[in-house]
Amino acid sequence: MSIATPLLQVSNLGKSFGGVKAVDGISFDLAAGELLALIGPNGAGKSTTFNMVNGQLKADQGSIRLDGTELVGKRPRDIWRLGVGRTFQIAETFSSLTVVENVQMALISHDRQLFSMWKRAADHKRDEALALLDQVGMKAQADRPCSVLAYGDVKRVELAIAMANSPKLLLMDEPTAGMAPKERNSLMALTKQLVIDRGMAVLFTEHSMDVVFAYADRMIVLARGRLIAQGKPLEIRDHPKVQEVYFGTGKTFEKKMTPAEAA
Ligand code: ADP
Ligand code: MG
Repeated sequence: MSIATPLLQVSNLGKSFGGVKAVDGISFDLAAGELLALIGPNGAGKSTTFNMVNGQLKADQGSIRLDGTELVGKRPRDIWRLGVGRTFQIAETFSSLTVVENVQMALISHDRQLFSMWKRAADHKRDEALALLDQVGMKAQADRPCSVLAYGDVKRVELAIAMANSPKLLLMDEPTAGMAPKERNSLMALTKQLVIDRGMAVLFTEHSMDVVFAYADRMIVLARGRLIAQGKPLEIRDHPKVQEVYFGTGKTFEKKMTPAEAA
């Protein structure tokens, strides 16, 4: 079996805030077409890890390579152009725009066209935007303002916006926060489908263990900045260190849902 170079290679990555080692020398890989969950209690270093990968934070130590290119030291915009996308919440100022207009904005921004050109280019990229909305099941609602959408539907539009850049790697920090269980499962099922259809890699954090176990191909577990376990969901569930970290937090691994049960 030939061993392909992973899309993302993180090695000995670290970041301190004052005396606190928020991320303490972690290493992991992520392959194209893989849905990798990053879990751990609050304060474990998940968001800090995300923000080093997308360039919002500069690592103190270690390396982050995308297709062999070093990302540490690059600006967020350059990292984004290399193919690292992330989901953003639709800002309030954009919620008065329609669903399709929001996606058109993202496509225009990808092409480095000026925001000021937007007004006289209402049809610009509309077909491309509709194709993206079709992929997230939102084409029928394309001409509604985002402000009237159900919460789960807003999340789908946010996913379409993140796709506008055709990312090789998509970062999703707590994508299902605030969602009801059914909406969570539906968003993750959609994400999984995009991973399969596009061969995209996804790194995501998630509090619902049911969701993680149902959808993640692989998991890595952080606690106090250290990577304490990695493996397939079933291996992680039975991992003594992981059970120790989660013991007493209420976030137990008792129930396993299959995607069919979860839907
Ligand atoms: P998680 O996302 O897993 O909840 P974070 O990465 O947000 O964890 O935080 C990891 C640790 O780093 C925590 O102790 C947190 O208080 C600290 N931390 C995170 N961001 C900052 C910051 N900008 N300044 C100071 N400390 C921070
Ligand atoms: Mg966080």
